[in-house]
Amino acid sequence: MKHETFLIKYAEIGVKGKNRYKFEDALVAQIRRVMHRTEGSFEVEKRDGRIYVHCAGDYDEQDVIEALGRVFGIWSIHPVMRLPKMPPEQLMQEAVRFVRETYPDRDGLTFKVRAKRADKGYPLHSDDINRDVGAAILDAFPEMHVNVHDPDVLIQVEIRDRINIFSESLPGPGGMPVGTAGRAMLLLSGGIDSPVAGYMIARRGVEIDAVYFHAPPYTSDRAKEKVLDLAKRVSRYAGPIRVHVVNFTDVQLKIYETCPHDELTIIMRRYMMRIAEHFAKADDCLGTVTGESIGQVASQTMYSLNCTNEVATLPVYRPLIAFDKEDIVRIAKKIDTYETSILPFEDCCTIFVAEHPVTKPKPAQIAASEARLAGKIEPLVEEAIRTAEEVWIGGKRSGANAQ
Ligand code: ATP
Ligand code: MG
Repeated sequence: MKHETFLIKYAEIGVKGKNRYKFEDALVAQIRRVMHRTEGSFEVEKRDGRIYVHCAGDYDEQDVIEALGRVFGIWSIHPVMRLPKMPPEQLMQEAVRFVRETYPDRDGLTFKVRAKRADKGYPLHSDDINRDVGAAILDAFPEMHVNVHDPDVLIQVEIRDRINIFSESLPGPGGMPVGTAGRAMLLLSGGIDSPVAGYMIARRGVEIDAVYFHAPPYTSDRAKEKVLDLAKRVSRYAGPIRVHVVNFTDVQLKIYETCPHDELTIIMRRYMMRIAEHFAKADDCLGTVTGESIGQVASQTMYSLNCTNEVATLPVYRPLIAFDKEDIVRIAKKIDTYETSILPFEDCCTIFVAEHPVTKPKPAQIAASEARLAGKIEPLVEEAIRTAEEVWIGGKRSGANAQ
């Protein structure tokens, strides 16, 4: 059976009162966004505290399920048979048709019926519906059996202003709808971690913008395209992302010329953080996001993180801080960024990296090294900010100013 309607359930815990409307409206907006990019024509309907996606035109059911699987806030997706209100005898027939079309292979299949009568005017009580629908199914398909404790299929019948019959339940990605939590600026590199960090923070309902530092001609256009491709993959979940592409070459060269080489990575990171904050503030972001995880590399020891953090004035969110690389890779594969991340293009940090970076930098020492840059680096930072290129990925956020 090709389903025309999908019922969307969301986890309601913590979304009471006014928050519930905000949550539902954001969820509907996000569902519309992904459906807009899916072949077919769709209508998203909020009705009786439920969200329905009605499909028409030339759509593929699998595409619909995949698209909905990328909307944060969705707990589960149920393909439903949607019927007008009808008398019980007719409902029994429809329930039998539902089973026939949904389960062509019924031999030994066990089931249970669970009815919910939201419309108290319906002539049958929930218990009666359970019993009568169960009996009609057994009558039509003697090869099936009832199992109330652990059925293969749970057939749900909901009597509302219309009638829903459904049994399949597909998992959604969970989390909160994007747009319910504020905005953050992701430091997005071409690696495995930062796209995953962006996905994780967006899953909490946070809109993201991004900043990418490159160092032409040391890094190529293809390295930049790779990062924009990663942003596109993340935007399938997170919605439109405004990416600032910053030419970091002169800043990096100045640091390279002036500061001890074993401190380069830390000092570069501090400048990245300062520039990222500039864009964060301009884009109304409430924090920055990185893909850092304690101990993964020299620049991510707690000592190094402490030094990078020193220059931050906004909260720095690090969703992967306690993750093992294997866990991060698993998520990267799931969200389809992994294969792009491992493409071997140069990264601005690897080009200027010292052979033996400090692993226990002290903030005072780093600040002293940075003091040597005073008066020389500021114009370069300003120039990097001024010449940054802005690229919208995944469409443009509604209401966003183009600048
Ligand atoms: P990733 O897989 O995210 O590149 P990584 O293990 O390579 O992580 P580092 O290179 O140490 O880690 O970078 C740590 C974090 O700093 C990254 O997760 C990212 O948030 C930020 N970062 C590093 N390089 C860049 C860059 N060129 N542009 C923007 N952000 C960057
Ligand atoms: Mg990296």
